[in-house]
Amino acid sequence: MHVPDYHVHSRFSDGEDELRACVERAVELGLPELGFAEHLTPARFADEGCGPDQGRLDEYVAAVRAIAAAYPQLRVLAGIEADYLPEAADETLALLAAYPFDYVLCSVHFVDGFCFDEPDDLEADGWRDVDRVWRRYYETLIEATQTGAFDVVAHLDLPKMWGFRPSADMSGLEHDALAAIAAAGMAIEINTSALDRYPVAEMFPSASLLRRARAAGIAITFGCDAHRAAEVGSHFAQALELARAAGYESFLRLSDGESVALL
Ligand SMILES: [Zn+2]
Ligand SMILES: [Zn+2]
Repeated sequence: MHVPDYHVHSRFSDGEDELRACVERAVELGLPELGFAEHLTPARFADEGCGPDQGRLDEYVAAVRAIAAAYPQLRVLAGIEADYLPEAADETLALLAAYPFDYVLCSVHFVDGFCFDEPDDLEADGWRDVDRVWRRYYETLIEATQTGAFDVVAHLDLPKMWGFRPSADMSGLEHDALAAIAAAGMAIEINTSALDRYPVAEMFPSASLLRRARAAGIAITFGCDAHRAAEVGSHFAQALELARAAGYESFLRLSDGESVALL
């Protein structure tokens, strides 16, 4: 079966291709819905992140609406992947309230100002204490859920991307994060990007976390985190397998908030 891809980047942020190329790939694959989720990073962190110019957000939403109208056979959504940084939360929340995004992915790429997903910073001081990165990741994520501003957690357990695993037991914090996500009524995505783009070579989240998310009643979406049109919908057969193995029988359709059976 085909499921929507709700995590696609175009040239409006750090993707390589235009909206149209991504939409055409989704049509070719027969996806039922496609959601763009460009980066939204607070201005003072945007140099380290990969956010689009905030002045182009109106243009972004209008361009997605225009392309959606040109491809009536596919539902195309204007989502956003918003960074949560406690020190700049007011700015992010104001931007999220100011634009008519169809949904908001919640991303923690920074802990205490350190952008841990930056490939040039693997030797940086921020990684000297791997356990601390993990701990602060979950604490920051829990804080994000409490804002009520986000719909879906993007790439849960992202700090594993470079292969840095915690030596301390994180199960308590993982439990607290899942409980906070459930309490906020948020979903999580199965993100396939790390399978062939990061050293960890497994999906976000891990099979074990996904099983616990299922037990906590958390809904799922799918996202490949495409930065090229050719990556749209990639590895979704494996993502479906992972979902089913965790006990999922449905996913969350973001266009209308309905739960749709995984057939
Ligand atoms: Zn991300
Ligand atoms: Zn992304």
